[in-house]
Amino acid sequence: MSNLMSNYSPLDVTFVSGNGCWLTDKSGKQYLDALSGVGVVNLGHCHPEITESIVKQAGTLLHTSNWYHIEHQEVLAERLCAVANMDNIFFANSGAEANEAAIKIARLFGQQKGIDEPAIITAYESFHGRTMATLSATGNSKVQDGFSPLVSEFIHVEFDDIEAISKHTSNTNVVAVMLEPIQGEAGVVIPEPEYLNKVKSLCEKNDWLLILDEVQTGMGRTGKMFAHQYNNLLPDLLTLAKGLGNGVPIGACLAKGKTAKLFTAGKHGSTFGGNPLVSKVALSVLDVMENDSVLANVDKMSQYIHTKLESELSNIPAVLSIRIKGLMIGIGLDDKLINTTKLMQKALDDQLLINIAGSTIRLLPPLIISSDEVDILINKIVQLINNSD
Ligand code: PLP
Repeated sequence: MSNLMSNYSPLDVTFVSGNGCWLTDKSGKQYLDALSGVGVVNLGHCHPEITESIVKQAGTLLHTSNWYHIEHQEVLAERLCAVANMDNIFFANSGAEANEAAIKIARLFGQQKGIDEPAIITAYESFHGRTMATLSATGNSKVQDGFSPLVSEFIHVEFDDIEAISKHTSNTNVVAVMLEPIQGEAGVVIPEPEYLNKVKSLCEKNDWLLILDEVQTGMGRTGKMFAHQYNNLLPDLLTLAKGLGNGVPIGACLAKGKTAKLFTAGKHGSTFGGNPLVSKVALSVLDVMENDSVLANVDKMSQYIHTKLESELSNIPAVLSIRIKGLMIGIGLDDKLINTTKLMQKALDDQLLINIAGSTIRLLPPLIISSDEVDILINKIVQLINNSD
C-alpha cells in the first residue's frame, strides 16, 4: 500500500543511483537511460561538476527569498540573456510555472492595449503543463478532462498549419501565439522548416507576441541551445525548465523588447524561484555546456543515430517514420502491427528506459551519450521492435 496519490502509475523498479547515461536499481541491475528523466538530466546522472556545484552551494547558502538580491540569480540572468539574446528573466520552479508567467505577461500586454479579454492561440496536441492556465493552453482533452471550468481565451489550432493561425487575424482579442518549436509530449512532431518563421511574421504583422515553449526543446536538446535558433528568429517570450537545472527544479521565462517591461513590482512572484542553490547549479550547467562541447556531441551523435536507425529500422513494416532533431527522437510505429502499450515495460525488462507517446517511441538520451552507448541503445531498440507482438 502506498500513501501516494494515484496520479502516476510507475513501473515496478526503484533506482538508487546513477552515473552518466546509466541507472542502477535496488538489486544492482544497470539500465541505459534513453529518457534522461524526461529530458531533464541532459548532462547525465551525477555529472561531477554539477554534483560539486550542488554540494558547495548547499554548504554555503540554500535560500534567502526574492526580497533580497541573489547574486547567482543575477549572474544567471545575465548569462542566459546573453546566450538567448533576450532582455530579462523571471525564474520559476518548473516548466508549467515558466509558461504561467508567459501567459500572465501576454495578458498584461493585451490589457495595456485596451483588450479586456486577451486571447492566446495555441496548438492541438501541444503540452504546456498541468496548472489550470497551462492545462487550458494545452491542446489535449486528456489533460483537461475533469477540470472544468478551464481558464478561458485559449484558441486551439492545428500545429504546423499557418493558415489555421491566419484565420484568426480578424479576431481583435488575439494577443499572442504560443507554440513548442517541436511538440515533445505529442511524440516528437517536427513542423516544416519554415513554419516558425511564418508564424513570427504573422505575429509581427498583427502585433501579436510569439511565445515559444522550449521547456523540452531548449538547453541543447535539439543540437542548438534553443530550437528556434534553427529559424534565425527571436520570440517575444521564451520559456525554459527541464535541462536548465539538470535535475534541480528551475524554470525561466525570458522576455524581449515590449514584453520585458510588463512585470512591475508585485505583479508576479515565487518563493523558491531562482534561489541561490538552483541558480548556482544552472550556472554550472551553462559552464559544462560551453566547456565540454556538449552541442558538438549532440550534433555528432544525432547524425550517427539517424544513420543507424535508418539502416536498421527502415525495412521493418511496423516502423512508419523516424523523426529526429538533435537528440530528440521519435520512432513512429504502426499500432495495428505492434502493441505499443507494452513497449515501455518490455524495454525496462531489457534494462532500457524509453517513453511511448501515442504510437511513437520517444527517446531523449543524455546529451553526453557516447557512440558505444548509442550502439547499445540501437541494438536494444531493434530487438524491442522485432520481438514485439
Ligand atoms: N512545456 C513542455 C513543452 C513540456 O514538455 C513540459 C513537460 O513535459 C512542460 C511544459 C511542463 O513542465 P513541468 O512538468 O516542469 O511543469
